[in-house]
Amino acid sequence: MLTCKVVDMAILEKPFPWKRGECRKRGVFAETLASYRVDLVHDGRTYDLELANLPVFQCHECGEIMLGDQEQGRISHALRSAAGLLEPSVIRAHREALGLTQRELAGLLLIAESTLSRWETGARIQRRVMDRLLRAFFELEPLRECLKSLDSSSPPALEPARQPACHPRSVGLAEESRGSTLPTETASRRPAS
Ligand SMILES: [Zn+2]
Repeated sequence: MLTCKVVDMAILEKPFPWKRGECRKRGVFAETLASYRVDLVHDGRTYDLELANLPVFQCHECGEIMLGDQEQGRISHALRSAAGLLEPSVIRAHREALGLTQRELAGLLLIAESTLSRWETGARIQRRVMDRLLRAFFELEPLRECLKSLDSSSPPALEPARQPACHPRSVGLAEESRGSTLPTETASRRPAS
């Protein structure tokens, strides 16, 4: 088994070797991999990531690799970087700079508040189309005003003679609230090069 998963924090207290791998043998030790390469699929694309000096927990019996929270975070960061996606802290900072709550921003983008919350904690990675929408939203005052006006006008009230600057049908905002889950679920490890 060359998959990797996140270890739960409770086991960190226990002495090595852990009996934690799929093989059920007591063979898990702490290691630092000089080079860790992994292919991650996010939003329909595969990213070939390489991390140097990655601390892991590895089973000497079956080779399974497990990661702590911090290392999981490093891999997520590498994926966002490779895909050119906004970091969680950046999304939060931009939202707060605009004086919006998570509920308000989620409402304007027609996504679940919990989805936005996960983007901001890093528990979920936004799809590329949503990343673009976020960037445009943070960048463009007219877009923000447009979305607010769509929110405040109920669809039947649209009068032919007096349409808002942006017609709802001209803004194709598909709801794509499901980003990838954390990388480990799709991760497959390749031997270090
Ligand atoms: Zn094992």
